[in-house]
Amino acid sequence: MAKKDTPEQAEFRAHCRTWLEANRPAPPRTKLPELAIEVSSEEHREYLCAWQKKCYEAGLVACDYPSAYGGGGHQGFQRIANMEMARANVPFLINVIGLGMAAPTILHHGTEEQKKRYLPPLFAADEIWCQGFSEPGAGSDLASAKTSAVRDGDNWILNGHKVWTSLATFAKWMIIIARHSNEDKYKGLTYFITPIADTPGVTVRPLVKITGGTGFNEVLFEDVVIPDAMRLDDVGKGWTVAMTTLLHERGAAEGAGSGGGGGVEDRIAGLIELAKKTPRGGGTAWDDAVLRDRIVQIAIRAAGLRQTARRGRVEGLIEHPMRLPLQGKVVMTELMQDAAEVGLEITGAHGSLYVQDQRAPDGGEWPLAYLNSYGMTIAAGTSEIQRNILGERVLGMAKSK
Ligand SMILES: Cc1cc2nc3c(=O)[nH]c(=O)nc-3n(C[C@H](O)[C@H](O)[C@H](O)COP(=O)(O)OP(=O)(O)OC[C@H]3O[C@@H](n4cnc5c(N)ncnc54)[C@H](O)[C@@H]3O)c2cc1C
Repeated sequence: MAKKDTPEQAEFRAHCRTWLEANRPAPPRTKLPELAIEVSSEEHREYLCAWQKKCYEAGLVACDYPSAYGGGGHQGFQRIANMEMARANVPFLINVIGLGMAAPTILHHGTEEQKKRYLPPLFAADEIWCQGFSEPGAGSDLASAKTSAVRDGDNWILNGHKVWTSLATFAKWMIIIARHSNEDKYKGLTYFITPIADTPGVTVRPLVKITGGTGFNEVLFEDVVIPDAMRLDDVGKGWTVAMTTLLHERGAAEGAGSGGGGGVEDRIAGLIELAKKTPRGGGTAWDDAVLRDRIVQIAIRAAGLRQTARRGRVEGLIEHPMRLPLQGKVVMTELMQDAAEVGLEITGAHGSLYVQDQRAPDGGEWPLAYLNSYGMTIAAGTSEIQRNILGERVLGMAKSK
């Protein structure tokens, strides 16, 4: 029981803890990637979908959503389930884009039919979701999206090119913004749900990352026909709906998170273990006071993040709703990058041995984490963009030109 738990919360926490202990799955045949958006093999997809479904059926997923839409109906319980999943260090939930972005957006802007149709299979990972926002000419400047949506009676016809689309190879559905009008950059956008798998006119092409893995993709739309019933909110409201999605993507929605372990605490523990077992001079890398100091600095920053997150739960202490999610995203992704860099430095020349190499320290985890860490400071809005928004909208500084 955590100090601030009500009796009902304590009972739920105990349920999560007991259930996770009893149901921890055996590891898959091959090592899972660090994050859900890096999943690229069918074996991992199957394993993780089965795990998410089991967690959902045990009441550990969608706890905060109304029961009418397949949720648990208990506000504040998802945070507890996420804490317990992280504590138990069980596999992550695969449907991250569904849980973290599509579901809260549908809940907020969807019709009754849309909520009932899409939310339960999303929670159970029976249907995987992806996000089609970025395009070759529209990343940071998302409102420049050019993918077109042309009205045709009761249907819309989509044409365009989305890129960096995580999980698209496994996705049944995509949340997408498309341009129905060229008159106004923002008001010309409309938000849809569109089918991806087995859909005439949709082509998904995996993109190979610097890590050698895939995970994200480009998605082409050629005369893809979707019914008007798949539009989310009004025509021309696409930008407003997209802001709801981005608010959740950047972590504003406590409780929408995907649970599972593998966070900064694991990374710090891994660094200490690595330093203690890596020979250096007559002893180990851990004997080096300068290196120990760098690891401690990382641990202090992680502790700062934890305390800031706790502060965010105290009403009146957070002066702007966007501050914590924006700040947390920048600080966490840069912290993970710095930690991976220290790990790579400890491995020294052996850091050039990669994941498939039997001789690689920790199975090549450090060079992989280092390369992946750059993607994390770009995805969901780059660090530069987050700093701009923090400066302009949270701190009220002059707008950048
Ligand atoms: C691992 C990963 C997963 C992703 N998954 C998805 C996904 O599932 N769906 C999806 O839609 N997108 C996804 N993305 C795309 C991501 O949202 C974009 O890469 C991101 O928004 C940046 O856009 P861009 O790549 O077009 O870069 P650009 O916008 O072209 O930016 C290039 C550089 O210029 C800087 N820059 C641009 N404008 C400014 C400015 N005004 N001030 C200061 N600096 C600026 C940026 O910070 C960056 O360093 C993913 C990206 C990554 C790396």
